[in-house]
Amino acid sequence: MIPATENFYARWRAQARNGNFLRDEQFPAERLVQAIWQHQRLRRGKLKTAAGQSVRVYHPGFANLEGGPDFRGAVLQIGGDAPCSGDVEVDLRASGWRAHGHDSNPNFQNVRLHVVWDDAGTMTARRDGAAGAPAIVCLKNVLDAPLEELSLSLENESLRSLPENLRGKCCAPLRELEEAHVVRLLEHAARVRLENKAAQMRARAKNAGWEQALWENLFRALGYKHNVWPMQHLAEQRSRLAMSLENLSPGDTLLVLQARLLGISGLLPDELTRAEKSSDSYLRRIWDVWWRERDAFADAVLPRTAWRFHGLRPANHPRRRLALASHWLARKNFVTQIENWIVSKKDMGTPQAVCRRLMDILQVESDDFWSWHLTFKSPRLKKPLPLLGDARVTDLAINVVLPWLWIRAMEGGNDKIRDEVERRYFGWPTAEDNSILKLARQRLLGTSNPKILKTAAQQQGLIQIVRDFCEHSNAACDGCKFPELVQAERDSGKTNLS
Ligand code: SF4
Repeated sequence: MIPATENFYARWRAQARNGNFLRDEQFPAERLVQAIWQHQRLRRGKLKTAAGQSVRVYHPGFANLEGGPDFRGAVLQIGGDAPCSGDVEVDLRASGWRAHGHDSNPNFQNVRLHVVWDDAGTMTARRDGAAGAPAIVCLKNVLDAPLEELSLSLENESLRSLPENLRGKCCAPLRELEEAHVVRLLEHAARVRLENKAAQMRARAKNAGWEQALWENLFRALGYKHNVWPMQHLAEQRSRLAMSLENLSPGDTLLVLQARLLGISGLLPDELTRAEKSSDSYLRRIWDVWWRERDAFADAVLPRTAWRFHGLRPANHPRRRLALASHWLARKNFVTQIENWIVSKKDMGTPQAVCRRLMDILQVESDDFWSWHLTFKSPRLKKPLPLLGDARVTDLAINVVLPWLWIRAMEGGNDKIRDEVERRYFGWPTAEDNSILKLARQRLLGTSNPKILKTAAQQQGLIQIVRDFCEHSNAACDGCKFPELVQAERDSGKTNLS
């Protein structure tokens, strides 16, 4: 290989790249230390904690792109302890643990190792294990190459892409399957997911009826992953929410429903903003209803602490979701519209058209306040913002509407509708990418390219495999049977997957 200095391109690169990692005022930048950890560019046999215990890294963990520690699910052995799974936090210095508030943040409770660049002040910052703090490991003196060389080789490595040697054990056998067989495998897994969801709805419908089972699942889906339970609670109040609405105008019906939903949710502010006129006028109208009704609903009102807002975009705030739900509840034929959607063939030629028709049903034309506001305190938007985005329609279709229609068709012995539900389910365009899919694509399918999954059902299939196998194993794939099953399937002449 030509030494870098004799290669003009390498020289250009070194000159041009006064940046990325090096551009950071501190060198190394924390991102470089994270990359060194992720790629384990270390003399691994020399890793020791600040207290002198040996550290064996079976798996460095998966880069966490959301809030919380930098790496999730590492597999580590510290000193004479048995190997264990836990998180890893990377900081330039040990003092970062307290300075960044990790010591009091519950998201960091599962951190087993605090990886730092420089050990200066480590022992004074805290001792290993003191007050439940994780063990500290310093990387500065255990690199497997000079720092500048590591900077050059790792600067373009995104933390999002998993190093090849950290792929799952099933990745190789899956790659040996023909593409059509992988698709079939994903679709089989997706069918299991569909049937599981449908079975849960049937169980609920036995006690509460089909309509209530649908409403509860719609509300839960509006709660995203963090606010499923408060949304479930609100859906359980559905018959009370609908009390005494018969003689009201459509506008008043909507206002009363919004007042009840906001009041019961505990998300109705006690005070006016005194800054936003339109918000205060809306709040006054809501309170005019709620102050008369709140005693009747007192037993159902949730504490604000029931909700989680961390990481939520303002457009997805539960209050906006409740506004959307109020429009659905106000529409008397809402469930009938969903039932008609599955039997209608009009304008349903392509999966996109099918999707659009459901969007027409679930979308709300306009809400006087919530189409124009993200929060009570934010100024009026220049353009109205829909209460429901395209991506959410796919989630609602795949996770709620289609499983509900499918189980109803199954229970009613209606093969024609069942087949139509399945046709729409397996043809539905892909949903928005998410962190589970991103990691699973790399671990199982060996690619970060989202286009490898062509439908929402294939995405669902991959998530099901993660739930069934990855979540019962660890980052090092210990004890996972999936690779063997794929291999056996391949060796057996592909009877199930062809
Ligand atoms: S745990 Fe199993 S399914 Fe998950 S990546 Fe590892 S081998 Fe594959």
